[in-house]
Amino acid sequence: MVYDLIIIGGGAAGLFSGASLPKKVNGLILEKSTSLGKKLLMSGSGQCNLTHSGNIKDFLSHYGQQGKAIRSVLYQFNNDALSSFFKEKGISTIVREDGKVFPKSLEAKEVLECLCSCCKENGLSFVLSSKVIDIKKENDYYSVTCEKMTYRAKKIIVATGGCSYPTTGSDGNFFPVLSQLGIKIETLHPALTPVFVENYPYSSLSGISFDSVKLLITTKDGKKIAEHSDSLLFTHRNFSGPVILNTSRFAAPGLFLRIQYLPFMSSEELLSLLKKNFSGNQKQLLTVLQELLPLPKRFLEVICERLSLSSNQKYSQITGSDVKRLTDVLTKDSYRISSLDQYNKAMVTAGGIALSDVNLKTMECKDYPGLYFAGETLDVDGDTGGYNLQFAFSSAYLAAQQI
Ligand SMILES: Cc1cc2nc3c(=O)[nH]c(=O)nc-3n(C[C@H](O)[C@H](O)[C@H](O)COP(=O)(O)OP(=O)(O)OC[C@H]3O[C@@H](n4cnc5c(N)ncnc54)[C@H](O)[C@@H]3O)c2cc1C
Repeated sequence: MVYDLIIIGGGAAGLFSGASLPKKVNGLILEKSTSLGKKLLMSGSGQCNLTHSGNIKDFLSHYGQQGKAIRSVLYQFNNDALSSFFKEKGISTIVREDGKVFPKSLEAKEVLECLCSCCKENGLSFVLSSKVIDIKKENDYYSVTCEKMTYRAKKIIVATGGCSYPTTGSDGNFFPVLSQLGIKIETLHPALTPVFVENYPYSSLSGISFDSVKLLITTKDGKKIAEHSDSLLFTHRNFSGPVILNTSRFAAPGLFLRIQYLPFMSSEELLSLLKKNFSGNQKQLLTVLQELLPLPKRFLEVICERLSLSSNQKYSQITGSDVKRLTDVLTKDSYRISSLDQYNKAMVTAGGIALSDVNLKTMECKDYPGLYFAGETLDVDGDTGGYNLQFAFSSAYLAAQQI
């Protein structure tokens, strides 16, 4: 028999395409894992940050260089349309102070169950533990081969995800199958990932975070490659937190990270503040720094240690050059990047199916009529904040409307 539709991959994009079909079909969702939507269940720490509440025009700056290219995808099914979709299905959403949108229940499980039941209503059956290993275009249908079975369908939606968090099933296994069809795959690498640097000094401060720092990525000779302000997290082994994750697509070994811990203050302002409190001050260095600067005490202690300054010496005893060194480290703490963390820590994958091979009004493959793509398998990676799920849902919706 020839099915109307086979969706390959039962993650966020695959399930959303099945859930948003405009008509009932006779079709299948083939999923390699033993269960559906494993990554969706992990999203937003299990609370599922579905999208962002910002103006859809502002979304474009959150996908690196691909933002403009995917305008038609995001505009045809935007964040408001997404919230309306879920509302219609009985899931109301809430917007957090930072603009992130979640289901009101704060339960990713609710979103997954809703999508699964919509897929069933739309005539789709789930076939779990079914890894697709080949697709072939026959005359007027596609044959889709799993390890034990071959199915046929008039139309196919490929939603096999990227390579990040491979234990969820998204391990990049499908890219070679697509390459064999002649579909171009842009180089894959981990994105939204912590960054390792040489001589990382903050292992003992693991868990300390800063609400807002300014981060620059530069070349060795100081040429700016990226700049971003957001919160920073020290982990045991590397720098993390939104400011790092969202700029990691620009980071590469050999480039430099430069952190300004007090982004509201220029280095001149900081220098003059530190100097003003300098002469005759009998308080301890650490006490003065804590009084003047909104920075964690343990962090200031480590900074003093790094500069070989005793944190309990009298402030009046430190020299002008010590004050200058303190200013420099707090306003331009620089590190050579040694590596990015791997796929098991990267929240998304950069690279994937080249957008040049896809009609971005319909998500159809330019060389294979009836073959559509959705989600992270495409060469699109967004910032944290709901941008990746929104792209997965928008692209899935567009593909579904063509069935
Ligand atoms: C920890 C974590 C938290 C996140 N939180 C958020 C968040 O809150 N908001 C946000 O916007 N984004 C978040 N993301 C990113 C977001 O979850 C992904 O971008 C999104 O899930 C991508 O959806 P997808 O359907 O394209 O891919 P996936 O969800 O990865 O689904 C792909 C599916 O295809 C299946 N598959 C793969 N190969 C085959 C094959 N050969 N045959 C059959 N099936 C196959 C896989 O098993 C998988 O089930 C998070 C990511 C992680 C890792």
